[in-house]
Amino acid sequence: MRLTVRRTVAETGERVDGGDSASTVRARLLRAIHLWHFVFLSRLFALGIIFYHSSADVLAAMAGSAVLLPVALALDGLLCVVSWLEKRGKGRGPLSRHRWFPMTAWAIIAAGTVFYTQFVFAVSASNAYVASFDHIAAARIGIVLVGAAVAGLSRPAFFVFAFATAVGGALGTWSMEFGGQSLLFLCLLAAMVSEDSRYHRRQDNLRQAQVDDQERALNLVREFETAGRGWFWETDRHGNLVYVSQVVADKVGMERRALIGRAFTDIIRKRGGGGESEERTLGFSLSSRTPFNDLTVQAAVKGEERWWSISGNPISNSLGHFLGFRGSGTDLTEMKRSEREINQLARYDTLTGLANRLHINELLERALRNHFGQPQPCAMFLMDLDRFKAVNDTLGHPVGDQLLQQVAGRIRQVVGDRGQVGRLGGDEFQVVIPQITAHDKLAEIANAIIISLAKPFGIEGEQVRIGCSVGIALSEGDGVPSSALVRNADLALYSAKDAGRGVYRFYIDAMHNHASERKAIEDALRDAIAKDQLKLLYQPVVDVASEMITGFEALIRWYHPTEGLISPTKFIPIAEEANLIVPIGDWIIRTACETVATFGPQYQMAVNVSPRQFTNPNLPSTIVNAVAAAGIRPEQLELEITEGVFLDESAENMEMFQKLKRTGIRLALDDFGTGYSALGYLKKAPFDKIKIDQSFVRGAADRGGMNAAIISSIVSLAGALNMHTTAEGVETHDELDLIRSLGCSHVQGYIYGKPMTAQDAIALLKSNGGRVEAQGYKSARETRKRTFRTVSVDHGGFRYEAIVRNVASGGAMVEGLWNVPVGTRFRIEFAPNMIVEGVSRWAMDNRMGVKFDHAMDIELLASVTPAFVGGAPLKMAS
Ligand code: C2E
Ligand code: MG
Ligand code: MG
Repeated sequence: MRLTVRRTVAETGERVDGGDSASTVRARLLRAIHLWHFVFLSRLFALGIIFYHSSADVLAAMAGSAVLLPVALALDGLLCVVSWLEKRGKGRGPLSRHRWFPMTAWAIIAAGTVFYTQFVFAVSASNAYVASFDHIAAARIGIVLVGAAVAGLSRPAFFVFAFATAVGGALGTWSMEFGGQSLLFLCLLAAMVSEDSRYHRRQDNLRQAQVDDQERALNLVREFETAGRGWFWETDRHGNLVYVSQVVADKVGMERRALIGRAFTDIIRKRGGGGESEERTLGFSLSSRTPFNDLTVQAAVKGEERWWSISGNPISNSLGHFLGFRGSGTDLTEMKRSEREINQLARYDTLTGLANRLHINELLERALRNHFGQPQPCAMFLMDLDRFKAVNDTLGHPVGDQLLQQVAGRIRQVVGDRGQVGRLGGDEFQVVIPQITAHDKLAEIANAIIISLAKPFGIEGEQVRIGCSVGIALSEGDGVPSSALVRNADLALYSAKDAGRGVYRFYIDAMHNHASERKAIEDALRDAIAKDQLKLLYQPVVDVASEMITGFEALIRWYHPTEGLISPTKFIPIAEEANLIVPIGDWIIRTACETVATFGPQYQMAVNVSPRQFTNPNLPSTIVNAVAAAGIRPEQLELEITEGVFLDESAENMEMFQKLKRTGIRLALDDFGTGYSALGYLKKAPFDKIKIDQSFVRGAADRGGMNAAIISSIVSLAGALNMHTTAEGVETHDELDLIRSLGCSHVQGYIYGKPMTAQDAIALLKSNGGRVEAQGYKSARETRKRTFRTVSVDHGGFRYEAIVRNVASGGAMVEGLWNVPVGTRFRIEFAPNMIVEGVSRWAMDNRMGVKFDHAMDIELLASVTPAFVGGAPLKMAS
């Protein structure tokens, strides 16, 4: 850069910098030569005056002094020619390039001046000119002044000129005085010039330093710009660009020249929506002429998202008048991009692109409170995919991943703008729906999601079907904390899954009570085995034709010290959830094997195995060990497996069947017809027996029902597959007769005996050589006993006092509770050790009919004390 500037000086010949480098000296000399024709003219003019005022004889007398005058004029003329040549060469003249040029020029100036001055001073010293003294003096001063002025443009030339003038003067006047005084003046001149030179050198150095600084700054700026680290801009007072870096022009795809003169704001994209606040700040700052710093704006670049951070300061002149803005900008695009990527990673699920757990919870927090911090209404869905695990296990994780992506897409499509969808992990999804709490609208959305996810998914040429359960919780703007909402939705989801999946449930408070109850049971269950609270009872299984006991089913009971008897239907699912089923199940298998060993080798023992136990790979070894330890034959042990196992038709499951079969034990399919009603698996799994669920047996003897037909087809199916059938829950003679006529091989029911202790079972086996007699009512339509007994009715954690007006083993009419909704569940406590659970079937005013979940032995009622003090004991009236 420095070189460029120097060259410019040399080229133009202008005095740009104060440095005394050779090129500067040369340039100044050239400048003087360029003007030398004025000196030449002044000299000709002076000669004209002299000749005008001279007579011929005077001129003849001066001839000696004028000898070198033509040489002097020729030398001046030579300088003028040099000047002309140099001017034509535009500073790159043929002569000034040469090294000898300055010396030669100075020599010409010196010689010309000496010769010329010698003549003029000789003239002025001549007495012949006394009469024309003023003319001659004026001419003399004129030539000195013009010559000094022109030569003065170059300091060496000036000294050459001054010295030559002094020499010429001294020669012309031929006077020692002149020479001496001239020398004195020359010294004075030299001293003055040297002082001035020093001053100029200092000034020049200073200026040079400034120029260097400016150059350096300019270089840095250029480097900064070209490296793309930032750019600069300047506007005039109207906000129009007067400068902008090339890089900006490149980015916005315009010529830099075209940008100059356009409004600065033209290079900024005008956006709509909530992100424009920075643009507004920019607009405000520009119009109010105030500085702005690091405003993040979007560049007006077509087809690309480019972000800039810009800063600017108003500039004004020394009088304080506003001149415009000057500022800088940097490209934030990469930073924004990586920021967004980091954000994306931190807030969004990488697989589905949905909000992740953290972010959806943030969104929930935001939806629950407006920006003033006031609570506002909001609803939340928690969703769980049904059968997702089976897809993942059978078709593999890549298919599972694709399925999740498609599921995410469908949920997002259904929810649309109404809410935000998130994936919590695995197959759990969450939807936050702000401002909507109307049940019908939420139900509509939940239903749409369920329907949408129930449609088959096409993945890698396979059709995959899953389902989805939805739990819904809401806050009506009453400030429910997000954690409570999540817990409520979780309970609602739990209840939806419990209700058979593929449904949605709204949270109700009772769910919470239910959940706390579950938690309490779970805690107590953990040490129930250690405290010897779990017992097995044994219910006889009887051969229909011979009425001989063929074996027993082991049924677990939990005698809780304060809660009393807890049904397995209640605590087994909890044990499954809490992963307690395996240790409990192992204990059951061991105990059942030990017990059947005491009954005799001809008896079988059926043990219930829950689906969770079934997936435990240690199950076969547990069985082999238990059988070996009890010393029984493997065929004596029968595992009862429910259809739930087939929800997951995985290879592991099928392998487990084979492994169990290889141990030599028998397998029975329990509760047939109540679950997963696909019959295909019956062929795959090696069952020895089908147990027909008691829901088919109950009322099968009634006329007009379908149950008898269903039992009949199950029996023929079992026959075709070479399996036995056991009818469960046979209570009446009518039912027994029907079962016998339909061809069932075995019966298990109260008619032949309730679940009993091992001692009672042994006693029963001994009493009649293993033969039992059917005992029970003729038909299910048993007459009700009229009574007036005070009971405690428990619902949703509240206890009510009520009166039982009539009772049968299957249900009761209860008086005292008003307008009870049909389907409400109750616990009715007839006495502390006699509690039944049931559901309301009808209600009118303060009366309702309750159907018990399990039959109650009403004969026992007469002997127990009522639940409430003051309540009358049961009066039996037939
Ligand atoms: P399940 O395996 O179908 O057992 C038959 C259930 O029907 C037993 O109920 C039994 O007491 C009842 N029952 C038998 N005959 C009659 C009858 O004539 N009338 C009526 N009303 N009921 C009858 P329990 O003992 O309450 O067991 C209920 C369920 O709990 C069982 O159904 C089984 O699924 C499960 N369970 C019971 N014990 C165990 C166990 O040791 N392990 C596992 N995993 N589950 C068990
Ligand atoms: Mg069973
Ligand atoms: Mg059963």
